[in-house]
Amino acid sequence: MAASRRPLIAGNWKMNGLAEDGMALTNELVERIQSAGDMPFDMLLCPPFTLIGAIGWKISECDLFLGAQDCHADKMGAHTGDVSAPMLADVGCRYVIVGHSERRADHGEGDAIVKAKAEAVLRAGMTAIVCVGETEAERDAGRTFEVVEGQVANSLAGAATANNTVVAYEPVWAIGTGRTPTADEAQDVHARIRARLIDEIGEPETAAMRILYGGSVKPGNAEELLNLPDVDGGLIGGASLNGDDFWAIAQSCH
Ligand code: PEP
Repeated sequence: MAASRRPLIAGNWKMNGLAEDGMALTNELVERIQSAGDMPFDMLLCPPFTLIGAIGWKISECDLFLGAQDCHADKMGAHTGDVSAPMLADVGCRYVIVGHSERRADHGEGDAIVKAKAEAVLRAGMTAIVCVGETEAERDAGRTFEVVEGQVANSLAGAATANNTVVAYEPVWAIGTGRTPTADEAQDVHARIRARLIDEIGEPETAAMRILYGGSVKPGNAEELLNLPDVDGGLIGGASLNGDDFWAIAQSCH
């Protein structure tokens, strides 16, 4: 990664964590961060909605950011079961993941919805982590660049800048499978995303924008995958549920 881009290590807990386990994991990370002193990366937890309030209170004095895994595009209203971006900002969130492949697949969220959510996140003063990535079938058909570039062009907020937006490249076939692209393959896609971003947001913002890699990052492959020239940290799913593993992954980032 470029020295000008501060790495971000983000934990996506997905639909995991009851209060006891979630708070124990949070306490463990807070202790590690407090004894680590200055860290050369930003660290972010995205717990389920149910734990955001309690974790926000716990980490308010610590160098650990809080985020959510999704939000509704509207500010308020008749959307039973949904949570809006201002509500998340209100309880201390600084980041919101939008367009995760599990939401794209499970909830039929296409680029237009993802873009509307990213815009809601920005309006609420937070940073959107916009996920992109090809399926295995798209990869096998040689369509990786086309798919990912299309998602970048159509999912980012109109007012996206390096300060309010992070892109996460997550090949769908690598999520939760133990499979990953090679370092060269990951770097190629990240470089292509960065090149495409120049068309969307211009050169200076692109040079400063963080692009995370996500998909089966573990302590054993983090060093190789997270230190590529166009990789600026990771979006970590399963391994973020284990304090030792999440911390080891973060330590690999330099
Ligand atoms: C994710 O879902 O964002 C993810 C990267 O999951 P995992 O690390 O478990 O592959």
